[in-house]
Amino acid sequence: MSPVLFIIIPCYNEEKVLPITCTLFLEKLTHLISNNKISEDSRILFINDGSTDETWDIICKLSETDIHYAGISQSRNRGHQNAVLAGLMEAKEQCDITISIDCDGQDDIDVMDEMVEQYLAGYEVVYGVRSKRDTDTFFKRYTAESFYKLLNWMGAEVVYNHADYRLVSSRVLSEFANFGEVNIFLRGMFPLVGFKSTNVFYERHERVAGESHYPLSKMLALAFDGITSLSIKPIRLITGIGIIIALLSFTGVGYSIMAHFLGKAVAGWASMTLLICLIGGIQLICLGVIGEYIGKIYLETKRRPRFIIGDRTENMKRNRH
Ligand code: UDP
Ligand code: MG
Repeated sequence: MSPVLFIIIPCYNEEKVLPITCTLFLEKLTHLISNNKISEDSRILFINDGSTDETWDIICKLSETDIHYAGISQSRNRGHQNAVLAGLMEAKEQCDITISIDCDGQDDIDVMDEMVEQYLAGYEVVYGVRSKRDTDTFFKRYTAESFYKLLNWMGAEVVYNHADYRLVSSRVLSEFANFGEVNIFLRGMFPLVGFKSTNVFYERHERVAGESHYPLSKMLALAFDGITSLSIKPIRLITGIGIIIALLSFTGVGYSIMAHFLGKAVAGWASMTLLICLIGGIQLICLGVIGEYIGKIYLETKRRPRFIIGDRTENMKRNRH
């Protein structure tokens, strides 16, 4: 029997984009159904991430026009990662495979065919990897590529140039559900779940409409979250820096004592100030990094829900009984 596919699409203030891309998603789904690659019970599941515009109304109306459209709505905006997670957790008992993708048409939906093929060939996770970034500005491309390099260097294992366009089987999802952390960085977590995985390549297009919700500040926050939720390498680096500075200081102490007894000690205001500033600065940065981890621990100990679903389209409500 062909597998049930749920396409998971997070949407935040996408009233300009949704009316354009929704038909593309539906065409793709019906194409896969008519080729007997996936089951007729497959769905396009939109996750409204607390949008303040007409996004949720559009989703509700879509679900009335075609049974394949479905939607859930988060009680407030929680960010892209939590929205995808909410969709995956909602879908995992109702389907055999999920494909998560952004709703802005930037990721090439035609590689979904290949993703499903790879699943049918026995792969449980299929990562969509960008082969080119020609349409991104130089700045976006440079920052994004540095982002992957930094992540890997800092010990977070991520697939290079893979964002959140991926196929995941429900078997992997049910294991993934045991990862209870509140700080989530999906693309770094799925490699940890394991199982057989492979990559498919695609070219990234420009947004069909609207604007990116990921300015540099949010990208930096995501990079920082990614590193701190997956790796403790920064703390190890701090320990390394500490040891080096301590060794240097010991030589400095030896030198000062010698200089004193040889009568060569002069009032060195400049060098003194320099050292205090340097070490003070390094200490503050180190404290900040350690503080970041303590903050993460604090958030984890609260065990607050990672998403709250406030509403569902009628067809999703029916599925729950
Ligand atoms: N998104 C979301 N919640 C947010 C921000 C974004 O669900 O708080 C969704 C957005 O609707 C889109 C996807 O996440 O489907 C990626 O966002 P965007 O296209 O703005 O990011 P970029 O592609 O520029 O990195
Ligand atoms: Mg986008």
